[in-house]
Amino acid sequence: MCLGIPGRVVELLDGFAGHLALVDVQGGSRRVNIGMLDAPPEPGAWVLIHLGFAVEVIDAAGAARALAGLELIGRGRRQRRRYTVSGLVQGVGFRPFAYATAAALALTGSVANTADGVVIEVEGDPDDVAEYGRRLRAQAPPLAMIVAVAQEELPSTGGTGFTIEPSRGGPARTLASPDVATCADCLHELGDPADRRHRHPFINCTNCGPRFTIITGLPYDRDATTMASFPMCPACRAEYEDPADRRFHAQPIACPACGPRLTLVDAAGAPVSPGEDPVTAARRLLASGRIVAVKGLGGYHLACDARDPAATGELRRRKQRGGKPFAVMVADLGTARRLAELSAGDEELLGGARRPIVLAPRRAGSGLAAEVAPGNPDLGLMLPYTALHALLLGLPGDPPGPDALVMTSGNRSGEPIVTDDGEALRRLAPLADAWLRHDRPIRVPCDDSVSRHVDGAELPVRRSRGYAPLPVALPFPVAPTLAAGADLKSACAVASGRYAWLSQHIGDMDDLATINALTVTERHLEELTGVRPELLVADLHPGYRSSEWALRNADGRPVRRVQHHHAHVASVMAEHGLGAGERVIGVAFDGTGFGPDGAAWGGEVLVAGYRTYRRAARLGYVPLAGGDASVLRPYRMALAHLHAAGLPWHSWLPPVAACPRAERDLLARQFATGAGCVPTSSMGRLFDAVSSLIGVRHAVEYEAEAAIVLEGVARAAPAGPGRAYRFEVSVSPDGSDVADPGPVVRDLATDLRAGVPAPVLAAGFHAAVAGLIADLADRCRERTGLDVVALGGGVFQNALLISGASRLLRERGFTVLRPRLLPPNDGGIALGQLVIGASGGSWNPAEED
Ligand SMILES: [Zn+2]
Ligand SMILES: [Zn+2]
Repeated sequence: MCLGIPGRVVELLDGFAGHLALVDVQGGSRRVNIGMLDAPPEPGAWVLIHLGFAVEVIDAAGAARALAGLELIGRGRRQRRRYTVSGLVQGVGFRPFAYATAAALALTGSVANTADGVVIEVEGDPDDVAEYGRRLRAQAPPLAMIVAVAQEELPSTGGTGFTIEPSRGGPARTLASPDVATCADCLHELGDPADRRHRHPFINCTNCGPRFTIITGLPYDRDATTMASFPMCPACRAEYEDPADRRFHAQPIACPACGPRLTLVDAAGAPVSPGEDPVTAARRLLASGRIVAVKGLGGYHLACDARDPAATGELRRRKQRGGKPFAVMVADLGTARRLAELSAGDEELLGGARRPIVLAPRRAGSGLAAEVAPGNPDLGLMLPYTALHALLLGLPGDPPGPDALVMTSGNRSGEPIVTDDGEALRRLAPLADAWLRHDRPIRVPCDDSVSRHVDGAELPVRRSRGYAPLPVALPFPVAPTLAAGADLKSACAVASGRYAWLSQHIGDMDDLATINALTVTERHLEELTGVRPELLVADLHPGYRSSEWALRNADGRPVRRVQHHHAHVASVMAEHGLGAGERVIGVAFDGTGFGPDGAAWGGEVLVAGYRTYRRAARLGYVPLAGGDASVLRPYRMALAHLHAAGLPWHSWLPPVAACPRAERDLLARQFATGAGCVPTSSMGRLFDAVSSLIGVRHAVEYEAEAAIVLEGVARAAPAGPGRAYRFEVSVSPDGSDVADPGPVVRDLATDLRAGVPAPVLAAGFHAAVAGLIADLADRCRERTGLDVVALGGGVFQNALLISGASRLLRERGFTVLRPRLLPPNDGGIALGQLVIGASGGSWNPAEED
């Protein structure tokens, strides 16, 4: 009998002249040549395999004997193997896990963080070495995201222990972890009087705590964090070095003896209530209606009691916040449920490790101050994500205090969030009554993320803390590229190979501070990812500050310009992993973006691939008179649409009444002559116009406010079939479809006059837009044969619209791609810019490829 490995035939395979079979060899499937056997074996039969050939059919007893013989030979034989694990594996407790797993299997070897990820060498019984590889993949720590495990056989070196080697640097290519909300174990210790970290505001472990906002470089080690200046006390050091401890190599490890210190100070930086616990003192201030600046993970918050109308109103006044809603942090899920209607998906988002602000319909009679989110149908809720937050909202048994705190970013509207302590005192002086701060520096600003849950999936609104800098996998490899994003809700991105990293939310590019923040953010992103961009991509808009920034920072590198709505569609395609040659029907609805014909685009249907796009349909043009003025005063857009629809400006029409006489006269002249106007096909502006037309909102303080309120009004409509409004679609001379909103505007005006209630009008309008999307997609499918529709652009933050449009499209047999990882708005546009730029595409609407 020759030496062979026994295996059991699973099935015979087609091809290769019937000579191949799938054989189960000790739990793994192998393709084995059966051509040497006299007759093909039956499935279930045992065969002896030698060098890839089945050489003999044996019985079960023969198989057992052969196995026993193999084990005999294998005993005493040692194997050494190197596993290189790439992905999000640093700062997530991977090395302790590698250590504990080796210990459990009695393997020797080592583990180290390197620029490639985590490199592990294990040596011992071959079966145990293989089992180690299986456990690496199957039992990795919860926060780890393994992308690949490469293995390599090495000569055996002996040795008796398993060691954790110092990190090896080099060009960083591993993934840094986002900040993670305090875990249940740490929360338990926080409230345990017997624990040495009882009430320690900076408690964390390998499963939780700050990461992204404290990392100064990779590989991720304490020296490469803003904790470098806090020497560990002996007790923390012992935990840090004990592989059996939950804080083994937890880089931000801290305790009351050695960790950061909390202080409560006044505007002069002098301690408030010295000698008292700063959190207790801060809670007392909050309970008495004061505004406290609280230093968090990615910047300062401004906090006040969300149930106190005076405090909330005062904060709104001081922040010059206008009507923009405040986020509210509540002590626990139970409190959250009393304030808003939460779906199971909402609760999962709220309580998850990322802890975004979750938008959910507010409950009437919640007891929150009306000033929290005036006129807004939704409430932005979040749960504590640091121990300091948990203490601020009170642990069980603490004296009563506010159970719901306004937690809004510490800045005046429009400015970037404040991170520096000195700057916080200075810039927040007009806003806060006291500062609850600590001495751990914040490496990069990072706002809270905002998200919502729609139809069983997440719909991100702002992707920042807890998400950044998680990479997005790309469908094809790209050269090192930088995308500058857009000017509103700015976020930039870098990419190389199969990954793109989007930055945290930066802000609106309307002041110098935000442009500087873009520079700082982009550099930090390069440090964390090791990407050295060779190509820059920016929006086609000649006036975008982000595009100017890209040109200014190009340093001889090429800058490719891409069309705004093409980028929206490409973002959605890329996050869904569509391949390089694929095309979709891309519906890009947003505020406005620069069109190559000089118009302000924003209601576009593009037949798009990554390299090229063709405009297949658009909303009919109406005159846009003065960009910002028309964004902030939706009645101007309503008048433009009335004009375009051929409706006289009757005084009973709400936008006509809302527009001052002189402004109306000027607009009438502008619309008649076209002076000072650009044509726009913006769907976002049409939502604004309808909001004003039906008397919901005539003036706003932030972009899309009128549309958001309109969605809320529509949600109040009675269920069942409502009003049926329809856009009129015609074919333009260039062959593209043009959807005229005129009929919808005229019917809305008629119904308004007839006294149809606003919710019915608003719901009818939403239904008309959803129907338009399905109709335009249908017409596009007829001409192209394409049946995949990608929905992108800020208008799709509207849950009612994206839900309704998706349902209609699916009913008509389309596959619908909607944003899940990145916001549909401009905060997610950098990904599309990257993939277009890296595929050699640009703004030129070339012929279809
Ligand atoms: Zn923890
Ligand atoms: Zn300590």
